[in-house]
Amino acid sequence: MSSTTGSPQHIALVAHDNMKVELLRWADHNRGTLSGHVLYATGTTGTMLEYELGLPVHRFLSGPVGGDQQIGARIAEQAIDMLIFFWDPLEAQPHDPDVRALLRIGTVWNVPMACNVATADFLISSPLLSDGYERSRPQIGPREWETPG
Ligand code: PGA
Repeated sequence: MSSTTGSPQHIALVAHDNMKVELLRWADHNRGTLSGHVLYATGTTGTMLEYELGLPVHRFLSGPVGGDQQIGARIAEQAIDMLIFFWDPLEAQPHDPDVRALLRIGTVWNVPMACNVATADFLISSPLLSDGYERSRPQIGPREWETPG
């Protein structure tokens, strides 16, 4: 089972508080490329990105009050193709279960995910962004992963 993604990609961006400057710097550096895609973000990250980039960003709720879960749901609905998630490896988060759930669902749906600048650089410069990519979805056990209808 697979789904094909091509340009524009639907890209979600999330950064924990201590990582927001790093994400903003990365996004500013890649503004030209990002402008060709559809951007999503958790609340505070999205507000800062819109201000910094001057690009439209679909903003969900703030992460700790459900934004991570909203992005996870969009991934499961195959409405988001890529996740740039600068989570904080040095500080505990009150919404750690949501963080883990987002990383988990991104893995389940075989979504390209970058959790640091180096990986984000590799992802955003990949020719697959414009060439299109057939993203296989792993079948786990006998369960049917297709959504009804
Ligand atoms: P925020 O959420 O963009 O609203 O700060 C990020 C997070 O903590 O998941």
